[in-house]
Amino acid sequence: MSIAINQSKCVGCGRCSQVCPGTLIGMGSDGKACMLYPKDCWGCCSCIKECKVDAIALYLGADMGGMGSKMSVASREQYLDWKIEKRDGSVETIVIDRKQSNQY
Ligand code: SF4
Ligand code: SF4
Repeated sequence: MSIAINQSKCVGCGRCSQVCPGTLIGMGSDGKACMLYPKDCWGCCSCIKECKVDAIALYLGADMGGMGSKMSVASREQYLDWKIEKRDGSVETIVIDRKQSNQY
């Protein structure tokens, strides 16, 4: 697994780098986040949830949405909108209510 960082969206806050439990994300000389060790990422999604500008997506394997699909999340009040972008351009959104999440 690995992540994709959209450099044009990244505002250089460094939060993803701080929360990655494997210290896999660094900050480049341009002030933007960069993935240092893509092969070591185990897809915990901490960085994705921490990014406030939707600049990070997780590549999904063939068993989870199809090879080449990407998953990202946007926070909206008490909701998390998990967005899955498929290779054919279609987008599926799964809305999770954080106040209800303990029921799953
Ligand atoms: S998904 Fe988890 S392990 Fe992978 S880069 Fe993000 S925080 Fe690190
Ligand atoms: S959390 Fe998002 S905006 Fe902040 S450095 Fe990481 S990718 Fe860039």
